[in-house]
Amino acid sequence: MAEGLEVRNISKRFQGVRALHAVTFEVQPGEVLGIIGPNGAGKSTLLGALTGFVPIDAGEILCDGERIDGRGPAAIAAAGYVVRTFQTTRVLDLSGRDNVKVGAHRFGWRSMLASLVAPTRRNERREEEVLGARARVAWEALGMSDPGTERLDDADAGTLRLLQICRAMAAGPRILLLDEPTAGLDRAAARSVCAAVRSLRDQGVGVVLVEHDLGIVRQVCDRVAVLSAGEIVAIGSPAEVAADPATSAVYAGEEAAWI
Ligand code: ADP
Ligand code: MG
Repeated sequence: MAEGLEVRNISKRFQGVRALHAVTFEVQPGEVLGIIGPNGAGKSTLLGALTGFVPIDAGEILCDGERIDGRGPAAIAAAGYVVRTFQTTRVLDLSGRDNVKVGAHRFGWRSMLASLVAPTRRNERREEEVLGARARVAWEALGMSDPGTERLDDADAGTLRLLQICRAMAAGPRILLLDEPTAGLDRAAARSVCAAVRSLRDQGVGVVLVEHDLGIVRQVCDRVAVLSAGEIVAIGSPAEVAADPATSAVYAGEEAAWI
């Protein structure tokens, strides 16, 4: 059984617009694959396809050897295959710790059922313990300290971004998708997010990172795929992709940013 994520020949059209065409790549456990490309290249459509939000027209998506395309977003996340974060920072009006526990809810299902059948304080406490333990595993995996029981009104943008990644990790995914996780952050906060991503990679999580900042891509990604008009036009190590004429063609006029 092939471990990690396998994307085979996937295509997607929106009313005649070719958003993805014959896209093929793999992500191994413990590998960060960067996805770059100009606006309209198909990056968001790809993330939507991988999480089951965007039904694909053709091709196959496998996680740890099992087909996940066509299963729908709830089933894909609930089985612990693929979980994503969003470009905009979304935190819930809860404490830091509870924001992470929300991500772990699938692990609480069994004891939650018990608490419905027999809603005892003991079952509720067990549910809390299960979610709390999962949340702790997630923030420790990111090298974070306990996000605490205070609400997040005063938290800075970098802390909130890390909490989002932490919440996604609490779901225990094999593959984590990050949509521009450093967008809008200052250098120090961006460095913390990069360190967290590397830490997850080192613990065997496969990461797909959509990123505009090519400096971040070079720091964090093991391999990079360049999307243009729905197709992968270059894929390889950051150095290989930088040297590929297809990349220069896509980034004509922006080469300074890449080199
Ligand atoms: P990116 O995220 O790289 O900017 P997108 O995946 O958002 O690119 O878009 C790829 C192409 O698909 C674009 O031409 C876009 O206009 C089109 N597209 C994306 N989503 C939809 C949609 N829901 N309906 C119609 N067209 C869409
Ligand atoms: Mg987009």
